[in-house]
Amino acid sequence: MIVTLKGDITQEQYTSLIDRIKGKGLEPNIDKGTSKTVIGLRGDTKGIETGYFMVDGVESVTRVSKRYKLVSRDFHPSDSAIDVSGVKIGSGYFAVIAGPCAVESEEQLFAAAEAVKKAGASLLRGGAFKPRTCTYDFQGLGEEGLELLARARDMFHLPIVTEILDTRDLELFEKYNIDMYQVGARNMGNTALLKELGTVKKPVLLKRGMSATIEELLSSAEYIVSNGNPNVVLCERGIRTFETSCRNTLDLTAVRIVKRESHLPIIVDPSHATGVLDLVGPMSLASVAAGTDGLLIEVHPDRRKALSDAHQQLPPEEFSALMVKIEKLRKALE
Ligand code: PEP
Ligand code: MN
Repeated sequence: MIVTLKGDITQEQYTSLIDRIKGKGLEPNIDKGTSKTVIGLRGDTKGIETGYFMVDGVESVTRVSKRYKLVSRDFHPSDSAIDVSGVKIGSGYFAVIAGPCAVESEEQLFAAAEAVKKAGASLLRGGAFKPRTCTYDFQGLGEEGLELLARARDMFHLPIVTEILDTRDLELFEKYNIDMYQVGARNMGNTALLKELGTVKKPVLLKRGMSATIEELLSSAEYIVSNGNPNVVLCERGIRTFETSCRNTLDLTAVRIVKRESHLPIIVDPSHATGVLDLVGPMSLASVAAGTDGLLIEVHPDRRKALSDAHQQLPPEEFSALMVKIEKLRKALE
């Protein structure tokens, strides 16, 4: 349920309204927007008439009819910014998350980290646990990968993002104080994992499933937020279509549709969306033009030797040149 306040509500009316909300066992989620203050009510409102909150100082009370509520724009009309260990994403803050597909060695990770830091990326990403299609392919270094990421964070002063495949790895993620937990496309609908991430105090990067609708993506985000963790960043990473010339089909409409439907930030991953080196740059720029809150770009110091996704990881010089173009475009669009 959503309570919209009148502009001239008095302090007394406000306090009494908040008491009324709490008296029903509900938690007020206050969004002081530029034009209006909206209070989203968290908790079970099923047995309560909207009229119960239609008191002095209140303009309107409505129910959220969507299947996802807490992540909806109705519930929280202004954009949310998510803080990843000091790096903000959303609500005007733009962040580039970059690094190799998989953490392969200290030499490889540190070279990538140094390069992406120098080029202006704000977060370092690399997979320690890789969800590979083929069981015989490189599955990641596991704990050793997390340890290397933590060391790279300290050396290059970049918060780290890495994928969590299984709730059994949560303890390890805590041990290395991972700054942002990625949920990959294959796990977007893994509700056991999503619920568990609701109890974690670290931000979650939730990637769209390869055959998931935008509504399903938002419904998955609702699992995390409704279980107690409001810090979710969504990621468009392409969907499966009949087109075969790319790994996936990048759905840039998702950026605008998510922004219309939700207050959560959304970033784009042109690396996995295309799987084609030459398309990563143009699609990054197209994503910026569409209004993305950030980008996830794979960068490898020597992609010919990469143990996964060798076709799509940018060499450091190309990444650096792309970052210049991204900045130019962002300035031009301001
Ligand atoms: C990844 O980000 O490393 C990855 C495997 O991507 P996705 O989950 O989008 O396929
Ligand atoms: Mn990859």
